[in-house]
Amino acid sequence: LPTTSPPHVLLLAFPSQGHVLALLSLAKLLASKGVVVTYVCAQHRISRLQRKYTHTASDLGPLIRLVGLPERVPLRDVGIDEGIGISEWLMEVAIDMKDQFVQLLQELQAGGAAPGAQAQDFAAPSSVVSDVFLPWVRDVAATSHLSHYVFFPCSASSLSVMLSLPLLISQGHVPLVSSAEPHLITLPGLSPFWNKDLPVFLHEKLKKPLQQAIFDSGFRLIEASTILINTTYEMETNAINYALQLKDNFHEVKRKVLSVGPVLPIQILNDLSFPHSQSGKQEHDIECLRWLSSKTARSVLYVSFGSIHIPSTEEIHELALGLEASSCAFLWVLRRPPCTSSSFPLSTLLPEGFQSRLNDRCFIVSPWAPQLLILSHPSVGGFLTHCGWNSILESISFGVPLIAYPQFAEQRLNCRMIVDQLRIGLELQKDENELILGRKQIERVIRLLMGGEEGVEVKKSCAQLKDVIRRSVKKGGSSYENLDAFVHEIFDSGSK
Ligand code: UDP
Repeated sequence: LPTTSPPHVLLLAFPSQGHVLALLSLAKLLASKGVVVTYVCAQHRISRLQRKYTHTASDLGPLIRLVGLPERVPLRDVGIDEGIGISEWLMEVAIDMKDQFVQLLQELQAGGAAPGAQAQDFAAPSSVVSDVFLPWVRDVAATSHLSHYVFFPCSASSLSVMLSLPLLISQGHVPLVSSAEPHLITLPGLSPFWNKDLPVFLHEKLKKPLQQAIFDSGFRLIEASTILINTTYEMETNAINYALQLKDNFHEVKRKVLSVGPVLPIQILNDLSFPHSQSGKQEHDIECLRWLSSKTARSVLYVSFGSIHIPSTEEIHELALGLEASSCAFLWVLRRPPCTSSSFPLSTLLPEGFQSRLNDRCFIVSPWAPQLLILSHPSVGGFLTHCGWNSILESISFGVPLIAYPQFAEQRLNCRMIVDQLRIGLELQKDENELILGRKQIERVIRLLMGGEEGVEVKKSCAQLKDVIRRSVKKGGSSYENLDAFVHEIFDSGSK
C-alpha cells in the first residue's frame, strides 16, 4: 500500500447491537491495514460499546476513535416488544442521527476535533462507509465530496431481496399484508421462499414514515456503486452473482458487491487475548466458561435469542419444559420479559422446581453472555438461535450446528438458508393448531440435532462450511482479497 499519510474513513453504524458490532469489527480490520477510522453511532450505543467491549476507547488502538451522537428520540429499553416495535424505534433513532452527523462532518472538514478525539488529531475524512439502513448518508456524502460505500451487515439473500424491492412492490408482494394468501416468491439466485418469510420490516404494519425510510434504504442501495457485505462468496455464490447483475428499469448496473465476511467481533476479542487467557473477561463470564469446561465435548446446547428479542413468559415456560425433556445439558441466556418488573426474580419465570431438578445440567446466564467465547468452547455442540445474521456467522465460524427459531427482521429468510440451502441446521416449527411453540416439538428437535441421524448430517455440513469461511478470510481467500481491494480504493480516494 502507498506510504503517504493514511486515509481517514467515517464509519456510520445503524444503532442495533448486531449492526454496531459488525461495523466495529470492520473498523478493526481497516485499522489493521493502516486506515484511520472515526466510528459514529447514537450515543447510547457508543457508551455500551465502551462498557461491554472496549472498556476504554484506547483498547481499539490509536487509529480508531468512537464518536457518539446524542439522541433526541427518547430511549427505550431493548426488547420492549417483538419485531415491529423495536424496529420502528431503531429506525426513528437512525433518522434522527442525520442532523447531528451533518454537523459533525462540517466540524471535521473544517479541521475541528470531534468529541472523544485524542491529542493526535486525524486528517479530514475522505470517505464514508454507512450501514444500509442509513439511506440519507449518500446525499450527505455527495454534498461533502466524500466517496461513499454501503455496508450490508446481513446475508446476500437479504441483499437480493432489498435490491429486488421495485420488482417485489410492482408484483404486489411488498408491502407484506397479514391477510395475503400464502404464496411462493421466486428470485433468481435464491431458493423459492414463502411471502411470510419476507423481512418483517417490509410489512404494511410499519408506520408510514418508517416504511418510507426502509424503502429509501432499498432504493439507495440499488444506486450504490460499492456494497460491502458481511458474508462469504463461497457460501452465497448464487445470491452474490444475482446481486451483481440485478438492475431495474432506471439504473445501469455498475455495482461492486464485495463480500468481506465473516466480519466478527472476534477482532475485538483478540484484544482481550481471546480465547486462551482469561484477562479482560468479567467474573460471571469466567463462571459460565468454567461450567462449560466441566462438560464433555459437543454435549451442550447454547440457547440465545440475540440482543433484541425476549420470548414471552409463556414461551419461556414451554422452552424450559422442552429443554428439560430433551435430557441435554444447556447454557441459556435468559432475560426478563419487559412486562415483568426488574425486582422479579428470574427463577419465577421457570416451571416450579426446574432449577433443583436440573441442577448442574443447566447454566443460566442473564442478561448478557460472552457469545463468541461460548461458541468457541469445545463442549458446545449446538446453538438454538433466533437466526440473527451475526449469530449464524459466529456459529458457523466455530462449526456449531443450529436449531433455527426465527423471530423478526429478516430472520425467517436466514432460517430458510440455514435449513434448506446450507443444511447446517434444523427448524423449530409450531404445529398448525399451536399458538406458541410447544415443549414436545422443542424436545424432539433438540434430540434430533444433538443425537439423531439428522444431527450427524448437519454437523458434517457445518464443519465443512466452517473450513470454507475460515479459508475465505485468510490471505488469498475471497473475503481477504475483497477487503484488500477495498482498502486500496480507500487509499486512492484519500490521496486525491
Ligand atoms: N450477543 C452477545 N451476547 C448475548 C447476546 C448477543 O455477545 O447475550 C452478540 C452476538 O454474539 C452477536 C450480536 O450480539 O454478535 C447479536 O447479533 P445478531 O445479528 O445475532 O442478532 P440481533 O441481536 O441483531 O437480533
